[in-house]
Amino acid sequence: GYHKVIEENRKLYNQVQDLKGNIRVYCRVRPFLGDQQSHNSSVSNVEEGSISILTPFKYSKEEKKTFNFNRAFGPSATQAEVFSDMQPLVRSVLDGYNVCIFAYGQTGSGKTHTMSGPDELNEETIGVNYRALRDLFLLSEQRKDIISYDISVQMLEIYNEQVRDLLTIDEIRNSSQNGINVPEASLIPVSSTSDVISLMNLGHKNRAVGSTAMNDRSSRSHSCLTVHVQGKYSTSGTTIRGSMHLVDLAGSERADKSEARGDRLKEAQHINKSLSALGDVIASLASKNAHVPYRNSKLTQLLQDSLGGQAKTLMFVHISPELEALGETLSTLKFAERVSTVELGAAKVNKYNNNSDVKELKEQIASLKAAMAR
Ligand code: ADP
Ligand code: MG
Repeated sequence: GYHKVIEENRKLYNQVQDLKGNIRVYCRVRPFLGDQQSHNSSVSNVEEGSISILTPFKYSKEEKKTFNFNRAFGPSATQAEVFSDMQPLVRSVLDGYNVCIFAYGQTGSGKTHTMSGPDELNEETIGVNYRALRDLFLLSEQRKDIISYDISVQMLEIYNEQVRDLLTIDEIRNSSQNGINVPEASLIPVSSTSDVISLMNLGHKNRAVGSTAMNDRSSRSHSCLTVHVQGKYSTSGTTIRGSMHLVDLAGSERADKSEARGDRLKEAQHINKSLSALGDVIASLASKNAHVPYRNSKLTQLLQDSLGGQAKTLMFVHISPELEALGETLSTLKFAERVSTVELGAAKVNKYNNNSDVKELKEQIASLKAAMAR
């Protein structure tokens, strides 16, 4: 009906906005935990697109500093609200875009809460990873008469510049699938949310193996859930491919030099290396350098296809509300500000034509009509 048409128009508008090509930056403030409620917050105000921080004079001349984002979420934002803003971006994977979503922030700021959620079995608090796949299944089902999709996933961990496959069950190994860059890691076809839940459980179990302090390790490694999508139009046979990286980055806090020795120091250097390589790639994209230094870290190598002009990128920064975290909070927000100035070219669809353009246009019209009718 009428409302559906308006809804579709809003989505088209969002898509046009997407095509403007900046890296999108979102920010989320974690609530106080447990019995901390009575503490003062460093966050004085959260609007739809900005966050204001109270800064003591020691950090800045002003008492209040406001940072702007594409979207800001306060401590009471729900997982559903957060996902709903990311939904058009996630859905564009099925149109053949490469999408990359990063969770950035200091340890304890809520990255894993946003991406995975605290509990796989709780519908209300489950995170972006699961919601994104569930939504892709839903949309692919709605489109199935026009286009048929194959969806598969990988889960990787980068720890000390080594990439580990978190889904090793020694069934499917793949180094290059149809010419796209797939890291040598298990690529598991999925068709339902229960498939996804069991793979996430496997991934989390494998991630815990070989680490004595799981929390410690997870804050020092990057984890990446990659979704590969291939769609085939039923009439023309035209194929489109999209991919989405959902990345829970290592904690962004600076290593405490006095404490870091031996293994800890090595870890800290590796984390700094890949996060600063990510920063360098973004800076290089911002200044439109011909050479972008993707090869400086495992993280940027892995994400090469999904960073830069061809892809849609969302940097989702997380901050802790505690006054003690203010130093890290300000450095996170400054990083976010730098990222949000990056302009990319328009994102491109990965499309492989087998047949005439006319047929394909007809299909697009058919799918638009179908969308309007819903
Ligand atoms: P990170 O992954 O950045 O180290 P976590 O996601 O593990 O941080 O969050 C630290 C703690 O705060 C966890 O206990 C988590 O459940 C809780 N937490 C984080 N964000 C939220 C939120 N938005 N609502 C409720 N609890 C949260
Ligand atoms: Mg975490």
